[in-house]
Amino acid sequence: MSETPEAFDAVIIGAGVIGAAIAHELAGRSWKTLTVDKAASAGAGSTINSCAIVRFSYSSVEGTNLAWEGMHYWKDWPAYIGTGDELGLIDYHMTGQLVFQPPGEGTHAARVKALWDEMGIPHETWDADTIKERLPYLDPGLFGPPTRPDDDAFWKDAHGAIERGYFAPDAGYVSDPQLSCHNLQRGAEANGAEFWFGAQVVSVDRADGRVVGVTLADGRAPRAKVVVNVAGPHSYIINEMAGVYESMNIKTKALRHEVHHAPAPQGVDFEADGVTAADDDLGIYFRPEVGNHILIGSGDPVCDEREYVDPDDYDQTINAEQWEVQMLRANRRLPALGMPHEKKGIVDLYDVSDDWIPIYDRTDVDGFFVAIGTSGNQYKNAGSAAQMMGDLIEAVEGGHDHDSDPLVVKGRYSGVDLDIGFFSRNREINPNSSMSVHG
Ligand SMILES: Cc1cc2nc3c(=O)[nH]c(=O)nc-3n(C[C@H](O)[C@H](O)[C@H](O)COP(=O)(O)OP(=O)(O)OC[C@H]3O[C@@H](n4cnc5c(N)ncnc54)[C@H](O)[C@@H]3O)c2cc1C
Repeated sequence: MSETPEAFDAVIIGAGVIGAAIAHELAGRSWKTLTVDKAASAGAGSTINSCAIVRFSYSSVEGTNLAWEGMHYWKDWPAYIGTGDELGLIDYHMTGQLVFQPPGEGTHAARVKALWDEMGIPHETWDADTIKERLPYLDPGLFGPPTRPDDDAFWKDAHGAIERGYFAPDAGYVSDPQLSCHNLQRGAEANGAEFWFGAQVVSVDRADGRVVGVTLADGRAPRAKVVVNVAGPHSYIINEMAGVYESMNIKTKALRHEVHHAPAPQGVDFEADGVTAADDDLGIYFRPEVGNHILIGSGDPVCDEREYVDPDDYDQTINAEQWEVQMLRANRRLPALGMPHEKKGIVDLYDVSDDWIPIYDRTDVDGFFVAIGTSGNQYKNAGSAAQMMGDLIEAVEGGHDHDSDPLVVKGRYSGVDLDIGFFSRNREINPNSSMSVHG
């Protein structure tokens, strides 16, 4: 430990999109913050490979509210950041999102539609003819439920047409998620925040049941009255360091995930005319990428194996078989896609919670907070989650008993309720969660 450790109001562990947004939020509230990250720059953890889709297709009121509120930050980005960035500011590409409605009762898409109706989230209902008319490059055939090539059903022709899709025009994506973290860093720094890179936390330090700071691998030991764990797929390791892992009902672990990149379907200007889409019929989601490309992600269908890994030791090469499965699935919906020669894509990790819902909460150690378990779907919520964390931290540090009287706050853009208790570390596993993502 250094002899005169520097003192901060809050140390934030992790400069990914959620950690950097919390730094920006707290610095904007005049907190003296230090963000430490073992990487060399902001957003170099799982955020760098995020598909960064912004959409509202969640299965709960609370999740939908958080995402709807979160979208407003992307739309209002320059004002939210409040300063310039020598690397430039990100663009929000508002393509809209189409959620396909597969047949059957109780589908996730039907639940999404009901929530959008209830909450007044703008959307249109498209039948198969409208889908073809609006997006002629899509085949609205019915192919599901998702299967793998060793099942004959995988190879069969369409057995009908998708009856409906729900199109939310405000949805979209950010093409450079790492840049968004740099923007947040610059915004936070404009309010006095500090960021230390190459700074690996090796200990979360406590005294008398309260957090007092962290110790870094290089021996520096910044002190603070608040420490926030925003370490992404390493969140459980930081929780173990703080001695709170066992006391939390909901746990987190690292799930390996691939996203495949391909040139746009032939003859289609997908960058200009493409939408983001959630396709539970085929178990995929996709979105345009700049340079007239397309990203194809997995909706985690039950037939696909889930691969939980050590976040410091996992295979970072594209699995050729899974690439082919995903390309074949995507070709069903986008027949002009074809099979690219190069097997391109990324491999990264989700920090998955037991019910795929994040944990935004205090912990049993006073002053130690968590914004973790983002489960492959919280990029979009950086701004709204950071507001919740700011409100939570200020209330709890001001003496509020959030465990017995969970906070509900108003989203600063849309005024929707943000029910922080829904994201509790001690909730029961939520049986209504889709346990999967649409990006
Ligand atoms: C492939 C993929 C696709 C996704 N697609 C979408 C999408 O379309 N839409 C969406 O909303 N969400 C999506 N997500 C999820 C979203 O990207 C994440 O929820 C979000 O980026 C998490 O941000 P974070 O700041 O919590 O974590 P991270 O970005 O992982 O940041 C954590 C940081 O903590 C640092 N760290 C870890 N341990 C230590 C330590 N001991 N000391 C110091 N620093 C440490 C790491 O270096 C890292 O920079 C996707 C995620 C992945 C992986």
